[in-house]
Amino acid sequence: MTEPWIGDENTERPGICAFAPKPGDEGCGAPATRHIMSESAIYGLVALPTCDIHAPVARAAGPWCGEHEYTSDCSARWSRWRLDGCVRDSL
Ligand SMILES: [Zn+2]
Ligand SMILES: [Zn+2]
Repeated sequence: MTEPWIGDENTERPGICAFAPKPGDEGCGAPATRHIMSESAIYGLVALPTCDIHAPVARAAGPWCGEHEYTSDCSARWSRWRLDGCVRDSL
């Protein structure tokens, strides 16, 4: 089984499911509900925003490292990943 494509790290449209059927395709576009950290062979360690439907795809993309509910802090530019939810860096 080949590794499913899970999309580029989404910095242009934060809060949107990163799933795309294959490279270059238009992405899912649904609002993200889960934030899944996975170690992808393609991207290394990445945190992927996904909708409920595509969360299993992201979980299967590589060794699953954790996930939490997607919140506005997940899309904050300087937020850091934590198992119980992303937190913004206090500058
Ligand atoms: Zn999706
Ligand atoms: Zn998060």
